[in-house]
Amino acid sequence: MTIAAINPATGETIQVYEELPPDAASRIVAQTHEAFLAWRQTSFAERSALMKKAAEVLRARAKDLARLTAMEMGKPVSAGEAELKKCALACDFYADNAERFLARESVQTESSKSFVAFNPLGVILAVMPWNFPFWQAFRFAGPGLMAGNAAVLKHASNVPGCALAIEEIFRDAGFPENLFRTLLVGSGQVEALIENPLIRAVTLTGSGPAGRQVAAKAGAMLKKTVLELGGSDAYLILHDADLELAAAESAKGRLVNSGQSCIAAKRFIVVASVRERYEALLVSKMKAAQMGDPLNEATQLGPLARQDLRDQLHRQVEASIVTGARLLLGGEIPEGNGAYYPPTVLTDVQPGMPAYEEELFGPVASVITVKDEAEAIATANDSSFGLGGGVFTRDVARGEAIAAELIESGSVFVNHTVASDPRLPFGGVKESGYGRELSHFGIREFVNIKAVSIA
Ligand code: NAP
Repeated sequence: MTIAAINPATGETIQVYEELPPDAASRIVAQTHEAFLAWRQTSFAERSALMKKAAEVLRARAKDLARLTAMEMGKPVSAGEAELKKCALACDFYADNAERFLARESVQTESSKSFVAFNPLGVILAVMPWNFPFWQAFRFAGPGLMAGNAAVLKHASNVPGCALAIEEIFRDAGFPENLFRTLLVGSGQVEALIENPLIRAVTLTGSGPAGRQVAAKAGAMLKKTVLELGGSDAYLILHDADLELAAAESAKGRLVNSGQSCIAAKRFIVVASVRERYEALLVSKMKAAQMGDPLNEATQLGPLARQDLRDQLHRQVEASIVTGARLLLGGEIPEGNGAYYPPTVLTDVQPGMPAYEEELFGPVASVITVKDEAEAIATANDSSFGLGGGVFTRDVARGEAIAAELIESGSVFVNHTVASDPRLPFGGVKESGYGRELSHFGIREFVNIKAVSIA
């Protein structure tokens, strides 16, 4: 079996790697476990110094790794560089805060002394997607390693070069040999890895089907999982929204990573009284995005990551149109090579259409019109997903109340685009997954929260 990196802008094969055989993968897990036994004894100061060094390596390599990302999955280099810098930020954040997040907590009981300690678990298996090939891995690895765990990474099969580069960053930063290893294996080997007794827990970021399969296996083995899955979240455009701002933020959110972001808003629910103006603004902002070669600094929209993903997106758009959605922009596969898909806006989107029910993982905005705020909230929640929603209104107090209490999503932002931030927890509800990454919540997912009591 081989793992091939294919440039989605040209269709050319960049490099073919041999898949690691299962016995070799097991040997690496055993080595990673050995590294963990020593690492768990290290102080936070030692771990922090290395994590700071990893941040430096990331910054120094940002341009080169952005090019690699562009070649393997089509992300424009300017966005790739920003992703690498964000990884460095997360490393610094956990280097600075892990000790505080995992400090013992004393609790008053009838004993002379009681407290909670946070111990590492061991080797964590990370199954990661291609869309933010560095960020997804670092937002797990930063807190994971700072907590005293070790990790093996099974990255998406279309970004093997990025997967190896991540291992190299930790090695070059001076982390102990084998503490973080990349396993170049296909998804067929994940079940065997979960069965390995030295794997203590699993984190997966990816699609619902992959999440279900991994969680089922981990459940059978009684191993903890954190799942960060898909989303089809809504931005609510209320009657009193600043429509210029709402349209600009909608287009920005929808086009992040060429539309391939789990938390990007995908459904835009607009109150009928402002629909016409909002749609016109949204179309003009979506149209303005510059699509082209991801290696060009000015490109905002690259190709999608793989040809099959582009074709699947197009099928979803076509099926929505057949069932009554109206195309306002885009919707046609451009001529020429590459997995390109243009900025697209669908309106009159209704329940039952793919654009309403499913995740559209590309630059396609689905506009849904409702009569009022109450219907907007009900429609937003009428989804199997719950990852990142938004509310646009000039009544900030009302927006805050809707965000905090009424929308069923892991994040809800008022009057700006949803984005992950190391200081805020990140994760979903419903079929978007469970568990949290980032902030102090994230670092506590893969620890033994231990009660200690002294008579
Ligand atoms: P994917 O096909 O589910 O792949 C994700 C990872 O899971 C890859 O490493 C993949 O390996 C592996 N995998 C796939 N099927 C598997 C199975 N049956 N058993 C074990 N492992 C399996 O998803 P993707 O296409 O890479 O990413 C897009 C999806 O991820 C979207 O739905 C997006 O919303 C979601 N996502 C969620 C978040 C979040 O934080 N919630 C963030 C980013 C993306 P192979 O590549 O070898 O198949």
